[in-house]
Amino acid sequence: MLIGVPKEIKNHEYRVGLTPSGVRELVARGHKVLVQTQAGLSIGFADEQYLQAGAAIASSAEDLFERAEMIIKVKEPQPVECRMLRPGQLLFTYLHLAPDPEQTKLLIESDAIAIAYETVTDERGGLPLLAPMSEVAGRMAIQAGAHALEKAQGGRGVLLGGVPGVLPAHVAVIGGGVVGINAARMALGLGADVTILDKSLPRLREIDLMFGGRIKTQVSSAANIDDILRIADLVVGAVLIPGAAAPKLVTRAMLKAMRPGAVLVDVAIDQGGCFETSRPTTHQDPTYVVDGIVHYCVANMPGGVARTSTLALANATLPYMLELADKGWQRALLDNGHLRNGLNICRGKVTYPAVAQALGYPF
Ligand code: NAD
Repeated sequence: MLIGVPKEIKNHEYRVGLTPSGVRELVARGHKVLVQTQAGLSIGFADEQYLQAGAAIASSAEDLFERAEMIIKVKEPQPVECRMLRPGQLLFTYLHLAPDPEQTKLLIESDAIAIAYETVTDERGGLPLLAPMSEVAGRMAIQAGAHALEKAQGGRGVLLGGVPGVLPAHVAVIGGGVVGINAARMALGLGADVTILDKSLPRLREIDLMFGGRIKTQVSSAANIDDILRIADLVVGAVLIPGAAAPKLVTRAMLKAMRPGAVLVDVAIDQGGCFETSRPTTHQDPTYVVDGIVHYCVANMPGGVARTSTLALANATLPYMLELADKGWQRALLDNGHLRNGLNICRGKVTYPAVAQALGYPF
């Protein structure tokens, strides 16, 4: 199969859909890969590395979309890219169609086959192509939070790990899923005093075992959140209710009880945020202060560490790319029900129930 990897064109998107090492795997299986010139340059993957791995370099996106049978990307296709898709062409990338009627319409009109990373499932009920970005965001949440706690950023001037003779900071993580445990691990590594709150008791049992009791666990209730806000230096919001907006677990009134200069990092901001006072921010201007509390609410945290994120995403997506390239999309989707769950648009029709329902298409 001829696989095309265009340069991402969304504002400040530096990730790329395939690394040189991924190219090598595909080429070894007899496939051809076409990478748009400079697609990975800003994160250290030069055209020469792709050439050495066996790819050919395309001088333009038009040329690449014209020739490739499967397009591999990171972000959802922008309107100009949707218009370059050809009938029957395969697109494999993040799509997030439910809140995006324009992209959905353009993909329907393209008559292409669009498989979304975010709806591919695994045998344990997880979302294996979303998890790597949650791992990145969870770990970054502590890095960002530690920085925001510095005085110059409006924080209360507290070092997460303390020093000998001075107590460490208290980090509360609300939501103990992929983001939550990665945040907790980083905070623990820096020497902070960490509590995870989750509404699932079985999950809290797993976390207790996972960390050998070095992390405190608490059921997530309004009363427990109220109590922990009073003592926390850094609170990470990491809840998810699949398919729904994040619940608002911290109201504006509750900020009053917090220590002035404490920090809220709302990782769930891409689902609307779990703090009432959260609004999306960018890597250029990541924080703002409400009632003396510093808020960090960057909606695309993994984009800030684009090289790590690219490598992490490629590790997860490559096996599926190989399956699609080796078998062709029809056979691959017939053989693998989890990959089939990724099919969102197929030749002019919406094929994913939640997207059809959200946007009023027949299913
Ligand atoms: P996950 O499904 O692995 O974990 C979510 C956890 O939240 C679960 O353990 C669940 O039991 C818990 N939960 C649900 N309601 C709760 C409540 N009321 N109180 C406490 N816990 C509750 O999800 P994840 O992969 O960890 O993602 C968490 C959030 O981070 C999602 O909203 C996701 O979209 C977001 N995210 C954001 C970025 C970013 O760049 N901002 C990147 C990756 C993920």
